[in-house]
Amino acid sequence: MPLPPFSAPLDRLARLRGPLAPKAYDARKITALTTNPACDRRTVLDAAGIDKAALARRVGFDPRFGQSPFTITRGLAFEELVKRDGYAELLRLLREQTGTPIAEAAVADLNEVGGNGSLTVRHKETARLIDRLAAGDAERLILDHPVLTMEVAGRTAILEPDALTHRVGGRFHLVEIKSFPAIDGVADPLAVAEAAKQAAVYAIALRQAFKSAGYNPELVAEEFLLVCPKDFGNRPYGRLVDLRQERENIAFQLTRLRRAEDLAVQLPDDATFDVRDDSGHSSAQLTQSVSALNAAYTPGCLSFCEMARFCRQEAEESASPARLGSAVRNVMPGLDSTRTVLEMLDGTGSPAADPGQAEVLDRLRKAERLRRARRTAVA
Ligand code: SF4
Repeated sequence: MPLPPFSAPLDRLARLRGPLAPKAYDARKITALTTNPACDRRTVLDAAGIDKAALARRVGFDPRFGQSPFTITRGLAFEELVKRDGYAELLRLLREQTGTPIAEAAVADLNEVGGNGSLTVRHKETARLIDRLAAGDAERLILDHPVLTMEVAGRTAILEPDALTHRVGGRFHLVEIKSFPAIDGVADPLAVAEAAKQAAVYAIALRQAFKSAGYNPELVAEEFLLVCPKDFGNRPYGRLVDLRQERENIAFQLTRLRRAEDLAVQLPDDATFDVRDDSGHSSAQLTQSVSALNAAYTPGCLSFCEMARFCRQEAEESASPARLGSAVRNVMPGLDSTRTVLEMLDGTGSPAADPGQAEVLDRLRKAERLRRARRTAVA
């Protein structure tokens, strides 16, 4: 597949972004997108490569979100340690975890190819090596930072897993190197789940790469090797983690994403997400453009999206039931404002528009009676 970096096409999404270089998709972004696939806003902003943190600041909502520079630096230092001295620690963990003899293991460093670090060249070389690996040639070759691609909402995302191992038990394993610790062999389950999601994104892309090359996608192992620091030191620790459930879930959610271009054409002609301070576009213009995209705010957005504080205020202003969580939203199907519902319930608003709404209101009245009865009993 030819690599179309986001900078290339002068399409609607590129015009919306303005002259700034696009922010590429990464696995973390894709997992966030698939966590809330109903959100057109995030789909368009990510596909257009918008710096969402900068956009949030321009519209007056500091994101207070994302990895700290300290965490990023620590992560890079730990990865370097795992790969130091000819990948000694990575090879040790592979031997421990997969039991394979690795005496003949060699590593292809795909961070650059012959001094060329361009994504296009690295992607081409990755494809060439994957073809050799899958064909049974060079089976003992480990790929360091291969470059994979994946279609997301009609755009091409470029992905760089930490490593892809040589054939182990007939299959190839992805490696994820993380800087959160495993204390007595147990790491934070939320952090492990997040790592599994990212590995699942890579697995989907890798399966596609095998398939495109004419090989069985099942050659990609259903477990990935998670590497993290042991206890409170820096010694690398590794274990195999199942990624099947995450892979199936993310693959399904990816099919639910609408094409970003189709969503973007619905924006007014003067819409812009150009976040440069000197772009000449005011915060009000940016706010108007963001508001023109449908959002699907839930409180969960606060844990994964830079725009969350903006969207939360918008949901509060419109009294969207979703701002109180999916449990509240789900008991009010067809009713998009808690304010309207309260007015209907106390008789000050217009009556229910249809039998469906009447049924929901009836249920809410019964729930309210039950709540009052319980409070009286407790008192
Ligand atoms: S915070 Fe806003 S833009 Fe981000 S996923 Fe939630 S609703 Fe969408």
